[in-house]
Amino acid sequence: MLIFGTRTKTAFIAALFFTCSFCRTTAAQRLNRRRTWFTLFFLPIFPFGRGQDFMACANCGQATPLARPDADRFAADAAQYEAQRLNTETLG
Ligand SMILES: [Zn+2]
Repeated sequence: MLIFGTRTKTAFIAALFFTCSFCRTTAAQRLNRRRTWFTLFFLPIFPFGRGQDFMACANCGQATPLARPDADRFAADAAQYEAQRLNTETLG
Protein backbone atom coordinates (compact mmCIF):
# COMPACT_ATOMS: atom_id res chain seq x y z
CA MET A 1 0.00 0.00 0.00
CA LEU A 2 1.26 3.42 -1.01
CA ILE A 3 0.69 6.25 1.48
CA PHE A 4 1.01 9.70 -0.07
CA GLY A 5 -0.21 13.21 0.66
CA THR A 6 0.93 16.79 1.21
CA ARG A 7 2.47 18.69 4.09
CA THR A 8 3.03 22.43 4.51
CA LYS A 9 6.41 23.38 5.94
CA THR A 10 7.60 26.83 7.00
CA ALA A 11 11.31 27.59 6.69
CA PHE A 12 13.13 30.49 8.33
CA ILE A 13 15.11 32.50 5.73
CA ALA A 14 16.51 35.62 7.44
CA ALA A 15 15.85 38.25 10.11
CA LEU A 16 16.30 42.01 10.31
CA PHE A 17 15.59 44.50 13.09
CA PHE A 18 13.29 47.40 12.25
CA THR A 19 10.09 49.04 13.42
CA CYS A 20 6.98 46.92 12.89
CA SER A 21 4.16 48.66 11.01
CA PHE A 22 1.55 46.97 13.26
CA CYS A 23 2.86 47.33 16.83
CA ARG A 24 5.31 50.23 16.23
CA THR A 25 7.99 48.37 18.19
CA THR A 26 11.54 47.80 16.94
CA ALA A 27 11.84 44.04 16.94
CA ALA A 28 13.19 41.18 14.84
CA GLN A 29 11.22 40.79 11.61
CA ARG A 30 11.62 37.24 10.42
CA LEU A 31 11.36 36.26 6.78
CA ASN A 32 9.77 32.82 6.36
CA ARG A 33 8.90 30.77 3.30
CA ARG A 34 5.88 28.46 3.43
CA ARG A 35 5.82 25.63 0.90
CA THR A 36 3.60 22.64 0.30
CA TRP A 37 5.45 19.34 -0.16
CA PHE A 38 4.36 16.11 -1.75
CA THR A 39 4.89 13.35 0.81
CA LEU A 40 5.39 9.64 0.38
CA PHE A 41 5.05 7.53 3.51
CA PHE A 42 4.91 10.86 5.44
CA LEU A 43 8.35 11.93 4.15
CA PRO A 44 8.56 15.18 2.14
CA ILE A 45 9.75 14.33 -1.40
CA PHE A 46 9.45 17.54 -3.47
CA PRO A 47 7.83 20.99 -3.06
CA PHE A 48 4.90 22.30 -5.11
CA GLY A 49 5.28 25.69 -6.81
CA ARG A 50 7.34 28.60 -5.54
CA GLY A 51 5.79 28.90 -2.07
CA GLN A 52 4.63 32.00 -0.19
CA ASP A 53 7.06 34.34 1.54
CA PHE A 54 5.93 36.32 4.54
CA MET A 55 7.48 38.51 7.20
CA ALA A 56 6.51 37.89 10.83
CA CYS A 57 7.10 40.27 13.73
CA ALA A 58 8.80 38.69 16.76
CA ASN A 59 6.93 41.07 19.08
CA CYS A 60 3.30 40.98 17.94
CA GLY A 61 3.36 37.97 15.59
CA GLN A 62 1.62 39.80 12.74
CA ALA A 63 2.53 38.33 9.36
CA THR A 64 2.81 40.31 6.13
CA PRO A 65 2.95 38.53 2.75
CA LEU A 66 5.94 39.52 0.60
CA ALA A 67 6.43 39.23 -3.17
CA ARG A 68 9.47 37.17 -4.16
CA PRO A 69 11.62 40.20 -5.31
CA ASP A 70 10.97 41.92 -1.94
CA ALA A 71 11.79 38.70 -0.07
CA ASP A 72 15.03 38.30 -2.05
CA ARG A 73 16.01 41.92 -1.25
CA PHE A 74 15.18 41.33 2.44
CA ALA A 75 17.40 38.20 2.50
CA ALA A 76 20.24 40.08 0.72
CA ASP A 77 20.01 42.96 3.23
CA ALA A 78 20.08 40.49 6.13
CA ALA A 79 23.15 38.72 4.67
CA GLN A 80 24.92 42.07 4.14
CA TYR A 81 24.12 43.16 7.70
CA GLU A 82 25.43 39.85 9.06
CA ALA A 83 28.66 40.18 7.01
CA GLN A 84 29.21 43.73 8.35
CA ARG A 85 28.56 42.56 11.90
CA LEU A 86 31.10 39.71 11.54
CA ASN A 87 33.70 42.14 10.05
CA THR A 88 33.19 44.53 12.96
CA GLU A 89 33.62 41.73 15.50
CA THR A 90 36.78 40.46 13.77
CA LEU A 91 38.39 43.91 13.47
CA GLY A 92 37.21 45.27 16.81
ZN1 LIG B 1 4.87 43.89 15.51
